[in-house]
Amino acid sequence: MSLSSDAVASPEALHVEGIRKSFGSHEVLKGIDLTALQGDVVAIIGGSGSGKSTFLRCLNFLEHPSAGTVRINGEDISLKPDGHGNLAPSSGAQIRRIRSRLAMVFQSFNLWTHMTLLENVIEAPVRVLGLERKEAVLQAEDLLNRVGLGHKIHEYPSFLSGGQQQRAAIARALAVNPYAMLFDEPTSALDPELVGEVLKVITALAEEGRTMVLVTHEMAFAREVASKVVFLHNGRIEEQGAPAELFGNPQSERLARFLGNFQ
Ligand code: ADP
Ligand code: MG
Repeated sequence: MSLSSDAVASPEALHVEGIRKSFGSHEVLKGIDLTALQGDVVAIIGGSGSGKSTFLRCLNFLEHPSAGTVRINGEDISLKPDGHGNLAPSSGAQIRRIRSRLAMVFQSFNLWTHMTLLENVIEAPVRVLGLERKEAVLQAEDLLNRVGLGHKIHEYPSFLSGGQQQRAAIARALAVNPYAMLFDEPTSALDPELVGEVLKVITALAEEGRTMVLVTHEMAFAREVASKVVFLHNGRIEEQGAPAELFGNPQSERLARFLGNFQ
């Protein structure tokens, strides 16, 4: 598949089936199916070690899944055995392309520390998508403004608070205009007083209709912003549904216990 940038939007931004992942003999993901329709905000919750990060990392091939299919905006990613018992896209270029279609925001921000915010945000549009530098700069200024960092565009990440760095990381993810954004506990590394400013940016993106898959321990936030909540336990989807159902009326004992820990 080509993942061409002018592809018509499919009703499904992301559709994966049967995602499995083993590390040695340890099977961490035991067959995960997930669909995110355009504009969906899918919140993934679950205990530590349940496989949430591994699942997100398999979606954009930071980890190679052992089995499964990934379809982005209606196009199947062609996968081949990688020689280590796992599956990988056909080339590095294809992987970079996929990561611009499913842009990830990490717990630890992962900005490039030797680059200013502006340089961080223009990097992928220029190098991966071939955007003119001038155009990429204009877009980056706009995005950094939108996350409240218009006055910091020439700063280096180490001079910023964690909340500012995470907002910059969100601007960087937006800069490739992805079909879906993947967030892995975007506020877990932040001091409590900085969590709100990041959740506010993510909420605004949800309201704009951005498709997102979001791993979070912020239950009140998930309840408010998600269109669907998925509870992962031991590498399987134990329960999923609309936030009001899942949080208000958990069916499984495990989910009830898990949610009880947050009260
Ligand atoms: P979560 O994000 O839900 O806390 P993870 O996906 O990080 O869980 O981890 C799930 C399980 O996979 C854990 O038992 C973890 O130790 C294991 N795991 C994750 N990454 C690796 C790796 N690179 N090598 C070996 N084991 C791993
Ligand atoms: Mg994790």
